[in-house]
Amino acid sequence: MSFSELGLIPELVAAVEAKGYTIPSPIQARAIPAVLDRRDVLGGAQTGTGKTAAFSLPMLQILSGAEFNGQNKRPRALVLAPTRELAAQVHQSIVDYGQHVNIRSFVIFGGVGFQPQINALRRGLDIIVATPGRLLDLCQRGDVQLSNIEILVLDEADRMLDMGFINDIKKILQLMPAKRQNLFFSATYTKEVKKLADSMLHNAVEVEVAARNATADRVDQEAYVVAQNAKPQFLAELIEQGDWTQVLVFSRTKHGANKLAKYLDQQGIGAMAIHGNKSQSARERALSMFKSNKIRVMVATDIAARGLDIADLPHVVNYELPNIPEDYVHRIGRTGRAGKAGNAVSLVSDVEEGYLWDIEKTMKKNIPLFRIDDRGEKIAVPRPATRSKKSRPAPGQQNRGGGGRSQGGGGRSGGGRPQGGGGRSGSGRPQGGGGRPQGGGGRPQGGGGRPQGGGGRPQGGGSSGGGSSAAPSRSRGRNR
Ligand code: AMP
Repeated sequence: MSFSELGLIPELVAAVEAKGYTIPSPIQARAIPAVLDRRDVLGGAQTGTGKTAAFSLPMLQILSGAEFNGQNKRPRALVLAPTRELAAQVHQSIVDYGQHVNIRSFVIFGGVGFQPQINALRRGLDIIVATPGRLLDLCQRGDVQLSNIEILVLDEADRMLDMGFINDIKKILQLMPAKRQNLFFSATYTKEVKKLADSMLHNAVEVEVAARNATADRVDQEAYVVAQNAKPQFLAELIEQGDWTQVLVFSRTKHGANKLAKYLDQQGIGAMAIHGNKSQSARERALSMFKSNKIRVMVATDIAARGLDIADLPHVVNYELPNIPEDYVHRIGRTGRAGKAGNAVSLVSDVEEGYLWDIEKTMKKNIPLFRIDDRGEKIAVPRPATRSKKSRPAPGQQNRGGGGRSQGGGGRSGGGRPQGGGGRSGSGRPQGGGGRPQGGGGRPQGGGGRPQGGGGRPQGGGSSGGGSSAAPSRSRGRNR
């Protein structure tokens, strides 16, 4: 199956060929003909599946059928995306794919000046790619009218709902004609996502390229039991020993991301943080340094990392596990993209074990779990017979110790070199028993060779130290 066999015009086929694509990805093969047929589409697609081209190519074709004549200045297609990064990337794809057709597009997001966006709107546009908040601002100021929208794309709808955009989206929907084509893409389908999809779509063609809530098949996943305060060193060794040159690390909080990036930098591992408190230019600088291999590590919060498309990203690390299993799917979807193999490592403190079980349940797949023993050997951790639901920290509580500063207590699941201590059961010795990881050293094996140096025996870590056993919360922390 080729792109032209999908019904795409030569101008678009030439553009995708210039990008080096020869064969349509499964979602492209199924969605492109449906969109060209003017059908609504419900796309269940993970990141890295080629979904951007799946909606952009037929959208460009439909719009290029009518000449831009200076009269139809109002936009005819709108793509809503959750983050600035994703919006910018989608827009860039539209520019690339649309290089041989006469289509005007512009990207609109917050955190930058209004005027260039207003100027572009005044000149006239066919396609707007936007984040919901800024678009709504512009609508309310009267700078943009959505009354001519024929095609609406919601990209990463699940994430838009997670980020609290539901009300903005509802308001934007009301500004558009009821009769339009809707293309709805989401990696995961919670009740809320389904409700929104049902309210928008008419007789939609369902295109699903992977089992819902499943992870990218090509991502090699593993997890290590590591005490929270041992994670900075553990990660540094993982990167050094594995000789990793490009790693995207997920931190739960913005503050934790900053601290970790600083720590890694101090260890001689070039790192930068990217999160919502950084200015757009700082985010762009970090991304470009990371992409061009000037730094090895980018530490990101979920929201900032959303939509980043870094070609050939080989390693993703969950420095903390997310408390929402679907976030895990999104995170590891950053690697193993476009048919490439990827590797995802999670560092799991004892208080995060419950999250791991939830993630495995959602994915219907076990993630191999290891600990590093006193001699630096990588030991498989057997699954407990019953998986306790206890020990999920409240969002924001996991990140303590994130900057290489040991904070006392160790957490009983060992790792690294807890200093301080004060826990009641610290014995300096792996505790074994119950098939659960107890104790264990602090050194990952990284690239396969035995780590050098001591295994980082727990020294006085205790069951009450380290993390918190606060009640589980499904809500997202605000500090992201
Ligand atoms: P997306 O899921 O849209 O974020 O796309 C993921 C990555 O796959 C991007 O880097 C695209 O450039 C790339 N890509 C999209 N379609 C194809 C294709 N048919 N063949 C090869 N790479 C593709």
